[in-house]
Amino acid sequence: MVHFVGAGSGAADLITVRGAKLLSEADVVIYAGSLVNPELLGYAKEGAQLHDSAKLTLEEVIGLIRAAEAAGKTTVRLHTGDPSVYGAVREQFDALDELGVEYDVCPGVSSFCGAAASLKAEYTVPDVSQTVIISRMEGRTPVPEKEKIRALVAHRSTMVLFLSAGLLEGLQRELLAGGYPPDTPAAIVYKATWPDEKTLRCRLDQLAETAKANGVSKTALILVGEFLGEHGGRSRLYDPAFSTGFREAKP
Ligand code: SAH
Repeated sequence: MVHFVGAGSGAADLITVRGAKLLSEADVVIYAGSLVNPELLGYAKEGAQLHDSAKLTLEEVIGLIRAAEAAGKTTVRLHTGDPSVYGAVREQFDALDELGVEYDVCPGVSSFCGAAASLKAEYTVPDVSQTVIISRMEGRTPVPEKEKIRALVAHRSTMVLFLSAGLLEGLQRELLAGGYPPDTPAAIVYKATWPDEKTLRCRLDQLAETAKANGVSKTALILVGEFLGEHGGRSRLYDPAFSTGFREAKP
């Protein structure tokens, strides 16, 4: 059996209770060493086999899982944040389906949730934005033409950009070209929830220079939108004049 487990965004105690239990029971742990907090490996049991997937190909990862399965062992495949966000898990699911290997998935705290917590921000502020677009700049991994940043900006919603901290000049240019005003509030969150986290707030047109001045070029999220601004509306949910399934409106 294979368990895909979300390690959380950084701090070792942000893994879920279920994830920690699975990790403590696994015979084989394959972890994404580039971003998973090494402290988490302390939850693995004595004698567990530990493999850093940063040094492996997909075929090698699947090979390790096959060997574990043949020996009747349990594997935890530990991914940073939540496995469903830029986790490269689909290709592993497909390979395991083909081999008839059983697996399940335990979610984790994605770094975009960790970053909001660090900033004490809400992505979906009433009357400001009710939509979050998660995307990335095109790098060596191509992005489909219809999803280019410039096109996504048309919504002027909240945007969260992964995997783009090293491409900030281009990102800033695309966000501006798409139509966000230059003074749109933005933030760079480096290593959210890690001990050496940095949160940097700036205007959209200062993103690249702010990252440069603070030495940030990787392991960061770029957040853009008026949700970071000064104005927040009020929800209907907690409005006294509004009835819900749980509460009558007060006159
Ligand atoms: N599955 C992960 C994302 C993996 S892709 C998740 O749910 O968070 C790797 C990218 O995620 C990095 O380039 C960076 O943009 C972002 N990232 C991961 N951990 C981060 C953290 N603690 N703080 C800020 N960004 C992070």
